[in-house]
Amino acid sequence: MKRILICPVCKSKDVELDAGGYTGKYYCKNCGYVGSFVLEMTKGEYKEMMEKEKFERIEDEKSKPKGVRED
Ligand SMILES: [Zn+2]
Repeated sequence: MKRILICPVCKSKDVELDAGGYTGKYYCKNCGYVGSFVLEMTKGEYKEMMEKEKFERIEDEKSKPKGVRED
């Protein structure tokens, strides 16, 4: 199965080999990350990760302290 490269910083799929693969490093077109470490996963795994991220963000919202609104 074809795997896609994911930026470890911003989780973008816009990752490509830097300088045509000459340096062996990867470049993220979204955030500008350059490094030899990237996440590699199938489309299904990527989707799963993004759904988990979304879920965790919702959990973060819920865990914010209540009653701090300035009204
Ligand atoms: Zn990035």
